[in-house]
Parts: sequence; C-alpha cells; structure tokens
Amino acid sequence: MKTEKPLLEIIGVDKHFGSQHVLKNCTLSVAQGETVVLIGPSGSGKSTLLRCVNLLETIEGGSIFFRQNDITKAGVEPHRLRQDIGMVFQSYELFSHLTAAENIMLAPMTVLGVSRADAETQALELLGKVRIPDKADSFPDELSGGQQQRVAIARALAMKPKLMLFDEPTSALDPEMIREVIDVMADLSAEGMTSIVVTHEMGFARRAANHIVFMENGEIIEYATSDKFFGGDVSQRAQRFLDQIL
Ligand code: ADP
Ligand code: MG
Repeated sequence: MKTEKPLLEIIGVDKHFGSQHVLKNCTLSVAQGETVVLIGPSGSGKSTLLRCVNLLETIEGGSIFFRQNDITKAGVEPHRLRQDIGMVFQSYELFSHLTAAENIMLAPMTVLGVSRADAETQALELLGKVRIPDKADSFPDELSGGQQQRVAIARALAMKPKLMLFDEPTSALDPEMIREVIDVMADLSAEGMTSIVVTHEMGFARRAANHIVFMENGEIIEYATSDKFFGGDVSQRAQRFLDQIL
C-alpha cells in the first residue's frame, strides 16, 4: 500500500496570549479525505488551533505543514493559503446587500477571475449541494439561520478548498436548524472533503468523523479513532467532558 503524506501536519505548536499558554505542544495530523472532530471545554484552545491553521494567528513554536509546505515560515501569503483552506465560523457574516448566489460568486470572480456566467453556474450548483437550490435570489435577511449558514458553507466551497475548517458552525442556530447544517457537512465528509470540525454535536461526530480529538487547557489530551472513542474507550478526562455535554 502506498503511504500518503498527511494533508495537514500540526507539529509541536505553542502559543500564548499574554501570559496565558493557550496551545501547548499541539501535534495533529489530518489525512487526505478524513474528517476530524475537535471537542473540548470552552477556552481549551480549539478556535485558536483552527485559526493558526488558517494563519489568522501566529505561532511561537512548532510548525504547520499543509500539502508538505511549512505554512508558518516567512513568505507564505495568508490570502493565497486561504484559497485552499475554507473556514466556516459560528456567525456566518454574509454580505447583506448581496443575494445568496452573489455571496457565493464574489470570491471566485474577484480572486480567481472567474467570469460572472461561470461563477453563477457554480453558485447554483453549490446551492443545490447545500440543499437550498431555490434560494439563489434571496437576501440573507430573507433566509433562516440554518439557510444562511449553508450559504456560508457554499461560499467557502466556491474556492474549491482542499481543507475545510468548521468552528462550531451550528452553535448559534436554533435546534431545528442544526440538523440541516449537520446533514450538509456529513454530505461533504462522505464525498471525501478533508475537514476539521469543532462541534459538540456528537451525532455528527459518530456519523462523519474518522478521528476525534479532545483538547483541554491548550493540550491535545486524546486522539482516537471514532470507533474506539464511541466504543467507550476514552480517557477519564474526555469522559468527564462528554458526561457534561450529553
Ligand atoms: P475554545 O475555542 O476552545 O473555546 P479559544 O481558542 O477561543 O478556545 O481560546 C483559548 C484561550 O485563549 C481562552 O482562554 C481565550 O480566552 C484565550 N483567547 C482567545 N483568543 C484570544 C485573544 N485574541 N486574545 C487574548 N486571549 C485570547
Ligand atoms: Mg471556540
């Protein structure tokens, strides 16, 4: 069997905010095509770790390799990197004066130089993929939170990313809308999109994750296959956390 290099390798990453040590020697590899679910208490460093991968934060120690290039070295252009790494946040922040389709078309047209016609064709395809094919001409304030978040996912996908980072994409949504966003993310995972998902939706983790990572106080405490994790073979610290959220 051919051994493939991981798509993403986070190696010994350290970071402080002031005197607070928020990432402590964090190491994590993500293989091409896999979904990693990142869990842990509030303040444990999950968002910071994702933000480091997208160069929204700088690191003090360690390195991060994406497609075998050290992206933390000088000379790496964050905007260029973010074309390959899509990120979806808790708040969707769509452009309110643009329709759903136009929100999705914007970056391909302005950054990649795609023609309006091609960008529109792609936007309509992506709206189908996120299961709102009839919302192309709707403005964000005409859409539910779940629909807006799916437009945000489609907008990220429009750049044809190699890796998707999701930071609690459903935590601002009403319960009835969580499922529709989860379903779209599970579709992406099933299609082989490589992703890191910070979420407490353990139903999603069970369905879509290949590996589960548990963080606490800036440390990666546990890294386990989904089978092992959901088979009950988890550390006491992770179990204590699960008991709180489930
Ligand atoms: P999580 O996403 O797991 O809730 P975060 O990565 O957001 O955790 O935060 C980790 C720690 O770093 C927290 O204690 C948080 O208060 C702190 N922190 C996050 N961002 C900043 C920042 N920009 N400036 C100072 N402290 C921050
Ligand atoms: Mg967070």
